[in-house]
Amino acid sequence: TNFAAEAAGATPAMRQYFAAKEQYPDCLLFCRIGDFYELFYEDAILVSRLLQLTLTARDREKKQPMCGVPYHAAEVYLQKLLRMGYKIALLEQMEDPKLTKSVVRREVTRVLTPGTALDPTLGAEQSNYLASVAVLGAGAMQSCGVALLDLSTGEFRATEFAGSGGWAALVDELGRVRPVELLYGSGLLGGVNLAGESETAVGLDAIRTKTAVEEWVFTAEYAVPLVRNHFKVHSLDGMGLGGHEAAAVAAGALLHYMRATKQGGLEHVDGLRFYERSTCLELDAVSVRNLELVEPLFSGESAQTTLFYTMDACCTPMGKRLLRASLLRPASEMGEIEARLEAVGEAAGDLRRREDLRRSMDGLLDLERLLGRVALDSAGPREVMALAKTLGCLPGVVGAVRLFESARWRELGESVDPLEDLHEMIVRTIAEEPPVSIGDGGAIRVGVDPDLDELRELSRSGRQALAAIEERERERTGIGSLKVRFNNVFGYYLEVTKANAKAVPADYERKQTLVNAERFTTPELKEYETKILTAQERSGEIERRIFAELRRQLLEAAGRMRETARKIAEIDLLGCFGHLAALRGWVRPQVEMSGVLEFVQARHPVVERRMEESGGGRFVPNSVHLDADVGPAVLLITGPNMGGKSTYLRMAALLVVMAQMGSFVPAEGMRLGLVDRIYTRIGASDNVARGRSTFMVEMTETAAILNTATNRSLVLLDEMGRGTATYDGLSLAWATVEHLHDRIGARTLFATHYHELTLLADRLARLTNLRVTVKETAGGIVFLHTVEAGPASKSYGIEVARLAGLPSGVIARAREVLKVHERAETQQVREASPTEGVRMQMTMFTPLSQKIVDRLAEADVDGLTPRDALNLLAELQREL
Ligand code: ADP
Repeated sequence: TNFAAEAAGATPAMRQYFAAKEQYPDCLLFCRIGDFYELFYEDAILVSRLLQLTLTARDREKKQPMCGVPYHAAEVYLQKLLRMGYKIALLEQMEDPKLTKSVVRREVTRVLTPGTALDPTLGAEQSNYLASVAVLGAGAMQSCGVALLDLSTGEFRATEFAGSGGWAALVDELGRVRPVELLYGSGLLGGVNLAGESETAVGLDAIRTKTAVEEWVFTAEYAVPLVRNHFKVHSLDGMGLGGHEAAAVAAGALLHYMRATKQGGLEHVDGLRFYERSTCLELDAVSVRNLELVEPLFSGESAQTTLFYTMDACCTPMGKRLLRASLLRPASEMGEIEARLEAVGEAAGDLRRREDLRRSMDGLLDLERLLGRVALDSAGPREVMALAKTLGCLPGVVGAVRLFESARWRELGESVDPLEDLHEMIVRTIAEEPPVSIGDGGAIRVGVDPDLDELRELSRSGRQALAAIEERERERTGIGSLKVRFNNVFGYYLEVTKANAKAVPADYERKQTLVNAERFTTPELKEYETKILTAQERSGEIERRIFAELRRQLLEAAGRMRETARKIAEIDLLGCFGHLAALRGWVRPQVEMSGVLEFVQARHPVVERRMEESGGGRFVPNSVHLDADVGPAVLLITGPNMGGKSTYLRMAALLVVMAQMGSFVPAEGMRLGLVDRIYTRIGASDNVARGRSTFMVEMTETAAILNTATNRSLVLLDEMGRGTATYDGLSLAWATVEHLHDRIGARTLFATHYHELTLLADRLARLTNLRVTVKETAGGIVFLHTVEAGPASKSYGIEVARLAGLPSGVIARAREVLKVHERAETQQVREASPTEGVRMQMTMFTPLSQKIVDRLAEADVDGLTPRDALNLLAELQREL
């Protein structure tokens, strides 16, 4: 729509609309007209489709499309659009239409965006981050800052990544945090691809709302003072932001945006924290996704496949959020991990104290969210009372914590502020059962304000007087059904039915005539009306004033409340880990500074839990032994599809994540040399749906691993090379394993269907072959899910196909084709091999001959009769 052309001939009201549209071009413009919010033009067409509203036209000939939602029910519609990622500007009437003769003045009073509007249905464990990114400098001097604000809790933090790899690291961070909205300088688009077409921009892709902000906002001159002013500090050093200009600029730009969209109530955003990624185990966005730490791999799937679901036994929303955050950022410092494990151990070992602690937290509401609502002035008296109830439980929690002895518990017990004064302050002020909204009256406790009490008494006695008048007038007129009533338009009146209207005395003054009733007033009634209404009005004012004062005092203590909420979250999480350890028989991992990764009889926590819940048999435990310093560094796992290879790989990574979070682990024992970073390259199939070149994605991810992994990393590679022709894939996988083994020395688990790779064991000293076992029975093969030493003996794909019911003719033919192909592959591998000696060994260990070798190895030659020997020979020949 050409708004300028339209505006030329438009009515004054529509001109206001066009002006607003020009100012907020990327927003859906909700225009208040009477009792409705109306949308026009493209906005109307889009919104009517999204929300299934009827599309009408404002003006028949001109065909201006229009649709609307009732003002009172708008909230639901607005939330829906926000959740879909849209931004909304509210164009409100600035004066009462009844009081103006000319056109009502309208202004945009607020801009709602996914990152700035609170969604009441937001899950307790979810965060609602608004992110802002700033890039300063270029090349090696470049630094990329990111600031994150969760308005629902007031959490505000920032970090930055330096150097030419900074942008990639930042994208990665965004992929992990998953903000709902991203702010960026409009000029940023030139250098980096924010539109998300790039192969590695997984993180950016997932962010639905991206908002360009004028470039000048992202400058140190403008943005840094904004941060200083907001927090009323002279320097940002105290927040850890000294020397991190990019992070500070990102934070300032975010504050600018909050102001530009007219968001009030930022009082609870009372601190900004610089955080560093290096203090945690790094998980890139791909791994977070692949390992299903917090979300299922496919968005439609149930969340039961996530580690979050399996480990969530937290009692409070704060605890749940911390669990989620810890899964994304497990610790990497020995001291921190040990302190947590110690505390978890103590809780796990003492059922009574643990249960007391957990019970004390039961029913605690979301302190941070409530505080957020208070700050945004959307909390009514009832919610403030709910806040008080939660505050009232805190001393109980502190008491329960203090019964524990280990250092972390003691630290928490001593430092957590039970906020008794705030509880006391609310309870002293707010009535026991307050109304939802302050305008309803009766929110303030009796005794708080003598004037208020007196006014209340006045209006109460006034109402009593009215009851007396009703009684008296009934007697005087003889009309038994006469009533004194009240409504907002006419105030107090005497109501008499039509049939009785004749009996009304002369001093009654007619006020209104209805179909079957007449309404009257008298001078006396008017007098009481004034008294009561003024008293109510004044008491309303006083209540509002007291409530506002309470709100102010609460917000002054916002920092203390948030600190307590953080401590409660930590207490809850440690209690949760203790509970899980005891309940599921998990053990304390032994954490050390070494290259070891070893577990004995470990179980995959998520798969095990799901098997238990569905009654689907028992999880088969398995062990792992890796040592980046001296022992085996690469485990190569072969075996049939469905044998349990992926499960084994994922289990290893999940146990590392759990241990470094400070949780016990599902195993009989675990030794863990701290991991600096987990890399995964797992199953490419899911990317196909996203319309990308699977192979390209796979290689991009592999390149990232080979370029950045260290000998302290854990690398998982599952089915590498699947996305391309067999020989390409095999050669790449081969070279990748060699590189990881020779150059990087990272602890690596490599699952593959390329049986040829098992030959690498002969050349690479620190590579160990493992296989998932199967049992061949008359009915076909059974997966045992045990992982044992040695290469898998043959490809079971055809067996699996047979189990699946492929016609026997097809199966037989497939066997023939396989034989031909295996011969050809053997040839290939032989050529890829660099030395003569190795070539010989490879030929011996081709998959085809493995069966023969096995058969020969198990034959008891001394015990064979000549006839048996001949039979065996014939059997072996048939195998060829
Ligand atoms: P692969 O990667 O070899 O194709 P998966 O790891 O996907 O095999 O496992 C196939 C199936 O076997 C899955 O349904 C999984 O739940 C089950 N499974 C895997 N490992 C175990 C185990 N140790 N105990 C019990 N079931 C297992």
